[in-house]
Formats: sequence, C-alpha cells, structure tokens
Amino acid sequence: MKVIMELGPKKIELRDIEMPEIAADEVLMKVRANGLCQNDVRDYTGDTLWTYPRIGGHEFSGEVVKIGTNVNPKRFQTGDHVVKYILPNCGECYYCKNGRENLCTEIYTSPTFKNENGVSGFRGMSEYLAVKSTDLFKYPKTTDFIEMAFTEPLGCVINSVERAHLKLGQDVLIIGGGVMGLLHVLVAKLQGVRVLVSEPNEHRRHLAQKLGADVVFNPMAGDAVEFVKEETGGSGADVVFNTTANPKIAIDAINFTAAGARRSCLVQCTPMSQLLLI
Ligand SMILES: [Zn+2]
Ligand SMILES: [Zn+2]
Repeated sequence: MKVIMELGPKKIELRDIEMPEIAADEVLMKVRANGLCQNDVRDYTGDTLWTYPRIGGHEFSGEVVKIGTNVNPKRFQTGDHVVKYILPNCGECYYCKNGRENLCTEIYTSPTFKNENGVSGFRGMSEYLAVKSTDLFKYPKTTDFIEMAFTEPLGCVINSVERAHLKLGQDVLIIGGGVMGLLHVLVAKLQGVRVLVSEPNEHRRHLAQKLGADVVFNPMAGDAVEFVKEETGGSGADVVFNTTANPKIAIDAINFTAAGARRSCLVQCTPMSQLLLI
C-alpha cells in the first residue's frame, strides 16, 4: 500500500509498504480523507521533537474494508464510514483516570511520537490502517468524508468550550480566525454568547462573521486591548480562547480578560490541547 513517508525535515516520499495485518479485535480502515494540521506542517519543516521516519496525518476519515474475528458485527461491518480515536494514551495514569487523556503522562514516549527503531506518526497519510474497533466512531454514510475528517479538531474545540463553562450572554473573545478559531466561533455561538474575533487576515475575519461572530477586528490596526475593553463596556471579555500557537499572544489573552473573569483557554489541536486557568 502507498504511504507518504516523512524522512526528515522537508524530505517526503511516496513509498510502498506492507499492508497492515489486522488482529482479532481490529478492523482494516481505508483512509478516504486526511486533513493537514499545523502539527503536520511542523513535522514537515522539522520544528518537531518527534522521530523520523514518520507517517503523519491525524485528522482522517475512512471506510471499514475488513473486520477482525472478535469484532462485534452488530457494531461494525465492512462498508461503514468511520473516524478513529487517535491518542496513544496509557489508560493508567492520573490524567487518563480523570478523563484528561490528552494530558496523559506517557503519550510522548509512545511510538506514535518517538519510535527510535521504526516509523512514528498517526498514519492518516497511508492507504490503510489496522484500528481497534473500540477506537472507532461511526458516521452516517451520507456524511462527506472531508467533513468527517474535521471530527478531531472539532472534538478539541468542543472540549475547550465545555471546559470554559460559558454562560448565556457572556462576552467571549476568540484570538485567531484559522480552522480552530472558526470552529470556536461555531461552537461558542451555540452557547448563546456574544463572540468577538481578533484576526489580522481580512478573508478570515469575513469568514468568522459569516459563521456568526458578532464583532471582528484586526489586532494590528490599533490598540487591541483598548478595543476589546470598549466593546465590552470597559471590562474586557468574560472568557478568552487563544487559538494561536504564538506564546506572546498568551500574555495578550490575559490582558483581554475582564477583572473577575474566570478563565482564559489556550487551545491547540490535540494532542497539544491545554487549558490555561487564570
Ligand atoms: Zn490537528
Ligand atoms: Zn495516561
């Protein structure tokens, strides 16, 4: 089967490797769509701590083409459209036991990240994957494979918004209008809050507005902290979501936040998801 193998910074090759064998509790999943995340870009540029060779891609969807002998046929059949739970968390540590699997203390030593003698990676950029049936989520066949591939980033955003415990009518600031920022707009608006989006790119500001943002602004065009204060009756946002990976913006996120406001969230796509409580 074909895979996109990353051999080192800016060195990728289309390679033929052995088809994966499935165990009794696994299915063979044919990948039908795979999103490119900023983390994939970092793997490509070499701005990464993980080992090469690597098969990237963790935002993927696909189709079940074969089921293992112990997989319950009432749950999964060939032809099912599925996405996969991707974290290689241990299931044993404090975080795993408390529903914070993304903070599992063992994740970064797993072969998905560091595989000194083999291939690392989530492997969405391969034709087929052997997947435990317990890691699969089924979609209706009418859902587009490309839309399904947004499940993982959307899952991160739902986690982020749920942890912020938004209340009806609050002022919420979303920093950044990329994929994660725009998904935050969609999910936050469903909570009945007023959404402000800080984004320098005009096209992204326009998209944020189309998706329901109440106020969009360019943080480079003036004093962004002053602007947010003015827009929020002088107090600042009740909740700030920072969807950028720029550490300087984490400081701004604090300045944007109202006195007495409960929290600010710092979010990237899993497995880097973090929550900054202030
Ligand atoms: Zn991602
Ligand atoms: Zn763990």
